[in-house]
Amino acid sequence: MSLIEQIYKEILLEHQQRPRNHGRLKVHTHSAHGNNPSCGDALDIDLRIEGDLIVELRFLGQGCTISQASASLMTTILTGKTLSEARAIAADFSAMLQTGQTNDSLGDLNALVGVSKLHTRVKCAMLAWQTLEVALLEVSPTLNQSLA
Ligand code: ZN
Repeated sequence: MSLIEQIYKEILLEHQQRPRNHGRLKVHTHSAHGNNPSCGDALDIDLRIEGDLIVELRFLGQGCTISQASASLMTTILTGKTLSEARAIAADFSAMLQTGQTNDSLGDLNALVGVSKLHTRVKCAMLAWQTLEVALLEVSPTLNQSLA
């Protein structure tokens, strides 16, 4: 294992063991539930958005290291970003998982680049991001429902 691979592995394990922004938001403007039956991963994503700014972003979930570390890393990088910045990062992240090319804009999310070689695990890495996308589609609390 190369030094960079070692560092990436440590970042993922660290986020799995000490997930950031973990739990539910009592007051949220957007929320969604997502799951990945092929691996058994499940997540709830809560956001508080003011204007077009992501003020708070939390997740609560269970599953494999890749799914949980991706969710934790997502919350750290997207908190404080605008919605258009968040969508650009999400697109870069998805592209990285397809191409296997790291991208400076992704910071510690580059630790998940190895997933690009594990096709069955791409769904694990994308779960938090796809759930976020669903949450952002929600226009009214009455439409709040899970994908399950
Ligand atoms: Zn998984």
